[in-house]
Amino acid sequence: MTSNSSVVPAPSPEDERALLDSIPTGLLIDGVWRESSDGGTLDVNDPSTGQLLLTIASATPSDGAAALDAAARVQPSWAATAPRVRSEILRKAFELVTARAEDFALLMTLEMGKPLAESRAEVAYGAEFLRWFSEETNRIGGRYTTAPDGNSRLLVTKRPVGPSLLITPWNFPLAMATRKIGPAIAAGCTVILKPATLTPLSALLFAQVLNEAGVPAGVVNVIQTAHAGAVTGPLISDSRLRKLSFTGSTEVGQRLIAQSAEQVLRVSMELGGNAPLIVFDDADIDLAVSGTLQAKLRNGGEACTAANRILVQSGVAEKFTAQLIERMREQTVGRGTLPESAVGPLVDEDSRAKVEELVAATLDSGANLALGGHRIDGPGYFYQPTILTDVPADARILHEEIFGPVAPITVFDTEEEAIRLANDTEFGLVSYVFTTDLNRGLRLAEQLESGMVGLNTGIISNPAAPFGGVKHSGIGREGGLEGIEEYLETRYIGIGDPARQTA
Ligand code: NAP
Repeated sequence: MTSNSSVVPAPSPEDERALLDSIPTGLLIDGVWRESSDGGTLDVNDPSTGQLLLTIASATPSDGAAALDAAARVQPSWAATAPRVRSEILRKAFELVTARAEDFALLMTLEMGKPLAESRAEVAYGAEFLRWFSEETNRIGGRYTTAPDGNSRLLVTKRPVGPSLLITPWNFPLAMATRKIGPAIAAGCTVILKPATLTPLSALLFAQVLNEAGVPAGVVNVIQTAHAGAVTGPLISDSRLRKLSFTGSTEVGQRLIAQSAEQVLRVSMELGGNAPLIVFDDADIDLAVSGTLQAKLRNGGEACTAANRILVQSGVAEKFTAQLIERMREQTVGRGTLPESAVGPLVDEDSRAKVEELVAATLDSGANLALGGHRIDGPGYFYQPTILTDVPADARILHEEIFGPVAPITVFDTEEEAIRLANDTEFGLVSYVFTTDLNRGLRLAEQLESGMVGLNTGIISNPAAPFGGVKHSGIGREGGLEGIEEYLETRYIGIGDPARQTA
């Protein structure tokens, strides 16, 4: 990430208001935008000012039940549509999101805070799931084989798992929705989306776009709510729901897995991370510093893939640290709509207070403050890009998700030590390795306990690749050839040997 040098002028307050006034504020149930059944609402605020953006409907348990009624009712007819029909709808949705990329980007920046350049990148990334799964729709496969004993034939087919509940977090308001809805639609599943309370607006605009793209009534329902557990609990207990796909914290994910056990619900879980980023003596240091900036500061550090622990080999520790301090010092912190902003606010005061407390605890444990370390006064929830050095191995910050622009650096001596430190966590989403020794890179890739490894790169998310973690970071994969499988069931049909059947 570099300081934003875009020449595009900042949107005016009138542009912002006009966009906000065009966003649907209801619940989307059975193809109709409705108020909440009890008239309840929730406020969506701008984290860079703390000001109200929009008041929208907040679903009740009975709204949730209505959404499941619709999803269950249309599931059979939706599953029976030709793959090409679903494919064309997804393709159209990709084109409509791309055509409205600036609206999506501004809306996301307003509700979540990230700089516009990053919001634009998320729109492109998020839209790509629609195009990718539009293409995958037509490639849902199966097989027909002869049993080993030659006495029968084995026919294996795929079918949609059925009505799916999709719960998404606030940090990637559009991409987390498209990464689930894309494959679900491709597979022939109907869905109920529950976006995060802090950032539901991008999902509401996306739902409007899906309607325009031709998604039939009831196939996609959206039930934002201020009462997440009370609304989703009864859905998870309802035998008509066949799938839960969740992205969010490990703590909530564990609770939802336990709830899902009752109905033996299929689950996909994209949970928290605690990514190590390892820089070896033989690394290209400029590349390693740029990669660290991307892996640390993208989304203001509020990403499951954020580099949480920077492990640097002793021979380059001084040089790497000096360069990282220099580059992080250059980053302009400010409202995401301003062209010069490279780092936006944290999403709310609780998040900022947690980062603040974690930094204080790390300094108490004996670490040094090399850069930043303070909240920025004024409206909004801004926090300085921060570097901590000499962080002791048992410091809490190395074992929890930071979710802020804070880089703790630990120095190691040997490759074995780096692997041991990197794997010393209950999480296992992604690891980053910087080295010019290919053998070393591949050795590390085989030994690191994570679902994904970035080799000489600080960004690995790609719609064509399987995203997901091991250990407490989750179950299942999103994107790639694997992503659609999360929404498909395998059916096996045994067939008597046709050669032995008489005419
Ligand atoms: P969160 O607090 O777990 O919330 C995630 C979603 O779950 C939100 O929609 C939330 O609704 C909902 N929720 C909360 N409690 C619930 C309950 N009892 N029953 C049903 N739903 C419930 O996580 P977050 O703070 O939004 O997101 C940050 C976390 O997501 C981090 O841990 C991050 O690592 C993880 N994440 C993982 C990935 C990945 O792909 N692995 C990607 C992005 C983020 P409310 O908004 O109403 O609370």
